[in-house]
Amino acid sequence: MSNPPRFRVGVDLGGTKIEILALDREERELVRRRIPTPTGGYEAILEAVRWLVRGVEEELGLAGVPIGVASPGTLSEPGGLLKNSNTVCLCGRALRADLERCLARPVRVANDANCFALSEASDGAAQGEAVVFGVILGTGVGGGVVIDGKILSGANGIAGEWGHNPLPWPQAEELPGPECYCGRRGCIETFLSGPGLASDYQRVAGMRLKPDEIVGRAAAGDPSCEAALRRYEDRLARGLAHVINLLDPGVIVLGGGLSNVERLYRRIPLLWSRWVFSDRVLTKLAAPRHGDSSGVRGAARLWEAGGSPPPR
Ligand SMILES: [Zn+2]
Repeated sequence: MSNPPRFRVGVDLGGTKIEILALDREERELVRRRIPTPTGGYEAILEAVRWLVRGVEEELGLAGVPIGVASPGTLSEPGGLLKNSNTVCLCGRALRADLERCLARPVRVANDANCFALSEASDGAAQGEAVVFGVILGTGVGGGVVIDGKILSGANGIAGEWGHNPLPWPQAEELPGPECYCGRRGCIETFLSGPGLASDYQRVAGMRLKPDEIVGRAAAGDPSCEAALRRYEDRLARGLAHVINLLDPGVIVLGGGLSNVERLYRRIPLLWSRWVFSDRVLTKLAAPRHGDSSGVRGAARLWEAGGSPPPR
């Protein structure tokens, strides 16, 4: 496409909520809505998206606006069936083709971490950077790579998916590591997701706290919560050092619930130098500018001229 469309609509298919956003050509937000993700399975999710799109188009007096969708998982090509989604009712489904049928128009689908990275690289915390790594630290751990303003998709559609690599430079007590839903043990996700932090605290302290409770109690001086956060920070620094050694991004942007933990932005750059293969580490670690809206903003941008939709 040579000209960006006048209006673009992004949909973020989350595990707990579905968000829709309409942008005009100047990036102004025209309409934004958010509903809980229906629990009635795949067809109910398709119907919810159709209802949201119809509502937004009616409100704006539009029809047939291009739709970009941020989804957990990745479309497996050829065939276009979704894989690796933690919203398991989407797995094995022809999400793009089904949405195109349901919405009667072309639809572009990309991984939610890729959409997050695209949004932050376009007009967010990593604006203007050539190489950007976006990290989701939430219910799961995902990642996305944007190079020169374009999503790096990869031959298997999994570029940036570091959450199911093993935790690097493991210490004895970190082996073999917690069991992961992917069938392996000791995946980065089992340590660095929100549930991973809670489980690590529970293994050591013998009681279960939510991640934000651990963060709050650490700030209030609780030694066991402080120790859990320090273990978390050391592991995140090792995980990101791996990424820096491989990709050498100018900026790493954190997203997901744990990106709200402010101390990470001070502590991690002090810790990762030990593991990065360089005398100096110029990589910046940044908080997201658009918060959890970046998924839906990136989804709308899948239709931007010069953006990089996944291959169709
Ligand atoms: Zn795994």
